[in-house]
Amino acid sequence: MATAGKETPSRPCSVCESVVWFELQPEDVWGTPHHATRRALEASAKSCRLCSMILRAAISNYRDSQGRRSGKGYWRRFNAIKYHDGSSVRDITYVKELGAYMPASLRDDNKGFGRSILAATGIITADGLHVDDDREVPNLELLKVGEDESADLPVWLYGNWWSAREPSGPEDTSHLRLMGVGARFGKTRSHFDAVNCKPDQAHIRGGSLGICTSDDSLFSQIPGRLREMNSDSDIAIGRLEKWLKDCSLNHPLCGSPPLNPALPTRVIDVFASDRGVAVFKSIGMRGRYVTLSHCWGTSSRLMATKESMKDLEEGIAVSFLPKTFQDAINITKRLGIKYLWIDCLCIIQDDPEDWEREASAMSQVYRNSYLTISAAASQDSYSGCFPKRDNDSYISPATISLGYTTPREATGPRSQSMVYEHTTQLGKKNTIYLFEEWLPGSSYYSPQNTEMGSFGKRFDPIADEPLSTRAWTLQERLLSPRIIHYARDQMYFECESCMNSEDGFTFGDIFFGMKRLLQTQRIPHNLHGLSSSAGVSFIAGQDAGGMYLGARWQGGWLSLIENYTMRNLTVRQDKLTALSGVARAVAEETKDLYFAGLWGRHFTEDLCWRMYPQEEIDDRRDAKNTPVKGKVLGTVRRPAEYRAPSWSWASLDGPVRHIPLSYSKLVSKIIKCSTIPAGKDPYGRVSGGRLDIQVMYLQISNGTRGVRLIPPQGPVYEVKPHDPKRWDRHGIPVEIDLEDDRGISIGALHLDLPSEPISYPYYALFLDPSKALILQSKELEPKRNIDGTDVTDTLASKPILTTCDINRNVAQNPQMKDYTFKAILDAVRVGVGVFVKADKKSLDPRGEEKEPEPWDEAKDGKLTLDKILHVSGDESWGPITKEDAKVWVSII
Ligand SMILES: [Zn+2]
Ligand SMILES: [Zn+2]
Repeated sequence: MATAGKETPSRPCSVCESVVWFELQPEDVWGTPHHATRRALEASAKSCRLCSMILRAAISNYRDSQGRRSGKGYWRRFNAIKYHDGSSVRDITYVKELGAYMPASLRDDNKGFGRSILAATGIITADGLHVDDDREVPNLELLKVGEDESADLPVWLYGNWWSAREPSGPEDTSHLRLMGVGARFGKTRSHFDAVNCKPDQAHIRGGSLGICTSDDSLFSQIPGRLREMNSDSDIAIGRLEKWLKDCSLNHPLCGSPPLNPALPTRVIDVFASDRGVAVFKSIGMRGRYVTLSHCWGTSSRLMATKESMKDLEEGIAVSFLPKTFQDAINITKRLGIKYLWIDCLCIIQDDPEDWEREASAMSQVYRNSYLTISAAASQDSYSGCFPKRDNDSYISPATISLGYTTPREATGPRSQSMVYEHTTQLGKKNTIYLFEEWLPGSSYYSPQNTEMGSFGKRFDPIADEPLSTRAWTLQERLLSPRIIHYARDQMYFECESCMNSEDGFTFGDIFFGMKRLLQTQRIPHNLHGLSSSAGVSFIAGQDAGGMYLGARWQGGWLSLIENYTMRNLTVRQDKLTALSGVARAVAEETKDLYFAGLWGRHFTEDLCWRMYPQEEIDDRRDAKNTPVKGKVLGTVRRPAEYRAPSWSWASLDGPVRHIPLSYSKLVSKIIKCSTIPAGKDPYGRVSGGRLDIQVMYLQISNGTRGVRLIPPQGPVYEVKPHDPKRWDRHGIPVEIDLEDDRGISIGALHLDLPSEPISYPYYALFLDPSKALILQSKELEPKRNIDGTDVTDTLASKPILTTCDINRNVAQNPQMKDYTFKAILDAVRVGVGVFVKADKKSLDPRGEEKEPEPWDEAKDGKLTLDKILHVSGDESWGPITKEDAKVWVSII
């Protein structure tokens, strides 16, 4: 049972007590009468807390109807294009103001469903900040309703009903879930009669009161629950059992868990004796078992060693074990499962042979486990699985998703609970909790989806837990078919089909799932990279609009690496090892080849990564699109010891992001790739590697702007530092002046280690027309003075044969046209470059060079920043074409 609020709630008035909450009609159907006039509600609000909450909700609704910007981003209104009064047939269009480019269910048919128009008026950043033009925070206390306008009007309540799934037909309402309650003033129960409602506009404003109930199957229409303060409670264990049962019975994607999987080499028998447990060698036995995912921490810990294994096998009192293990044993026992696997008790830590064998079996251990207990909030084995939640206010995932920071106080001063007696089952009682919390509107004809992400920012609720900062735990989460996360705020259940929060929400995205990962590893090449109708998400760090849904960016390998590279490792050389379980599982299922973190069938896509230590946001609130730096995500470092070839993200430490390529316009060709395993595991450490690639190749020099290197013939192919009047992007500005009809391209270099001194020349190796790997020659030669003499003891990078050189050669010797030119071997990657095509016409007719800035072109409607950001796969924005001469380059 939840802890009591700071105040004892007052008893609701008789009007409030008589409301049948879960029978309230949706917002755009009929209102349910509450107090007869606003005056009566105000009088009752003095003694009834619920009436005062309803009053605030109705006033807030009234205020929104006046068209004032409140600072909230939300579904502001439905513009009824045409409707027939009293009939259910209408065409409605709504403007969704909450974050553009969030997927909405587009149901555009003639049955009256809404059609969404996405409007870009706000940004939701990856850390949940909602930026809007109008940041005014509404103060409900100060709001006054016009004295004569609504004083004598009745008060109407409505339900904020959302959809749990697609309805099976027009009459089906079983998918509807009551998430909240709203109130309005109006002449009649029709929402078109709400105060300040224009006769042709249906105002859908959402619910200002959240609703929860106690655990009872009769209340399936209300998914909201109070989270348990202690996840050890019987209610909490009951919720876990319910989730497990639901997964086994109702999730076709998950299937029922195997009854009798092979047990890991060693398991803990939790029922070994009354007060103790014992490690037990399974030797071919089968049975259900539970696994633990936890942070080891730095404190001294009990673990299996050659010496202690005998004692562990003979049995050990539970009280001797660290708290996290005790809690895991407790959960396992209460679920009635006999075996538990904990890495540090089941693998002999000081026996390298045992460790290597068991570590390579880890993918099977987690994949066959019945349930993984994730001690998400624990820093080490001594903190236990059940975090202390002594404060009864928290910010619900729904609120976070909307970008707000208002805490939910289901038992606080702005809340009301009441015991509800079932009318159908005498004597059966539930408690209903109402509290102030805003949720977006939902129409009966186009109900909002209860999935997180369909009405706000997508996010992983476990992302900030201590467990998610550790590299090893990523594959534990990914490989486990079912996980219970004991997070700081509440419990979350995750399986291959869903992720649910204890307070009643579903997360649309499964952040880690083997099925999703394998499915995206099997996608054909035409579903790689940018889609033909691509866009760029307004949600910083999210790829919602730009990539094919379900491709390797969402729940696939690319998103996995982006997540993995933000995590910490105690042993830095484990960078590839801590991911080897997943790599092995993927290779076994797809028969693909693995090269130090990159996959053979997706190699070019995997190759286009960049370091991303800090969030980069284009602040769209001003027309200038100022680039700003957001949240720091990590530090970029080069490890002291060799770890991987430079083209692999595993060669560096620090957060990585992948840049989407126009896959239909690739201008590079992978010739061959190889890596040398450092040990027995082909998915673990590597001691070397080489990539041979055929590409279009430009030199980047530090040539002064305005100085052109005019060769005897052919165009100048050179990337130069760019010195714009205003640079509205991130990265080092550069330009390519292709002195043919392609004009000037501007772009940005993103060096992997910007802190290292820049040493030209660099080489831009184009993967697609606009994105290039930036390389440096590893070979050095003496540095020359201007007069040609050597500078003693100084070495400079040896130039590489570039496409420019080849063009000159071919011009002189046309018979060399079909030759393959080998550039110098052993180049190393130092970063990536991204280019935007500009127009030759940006040069002023007087011959003065004008900045080829995209926004300069906006006036004639040719090239706008918006167009560039919404890069279309059908158009090449980069300067390079497939016809450009290519060279053969080896990268180590
Ligand atoms: Zn009341
Ligand atoms: Zn499931």
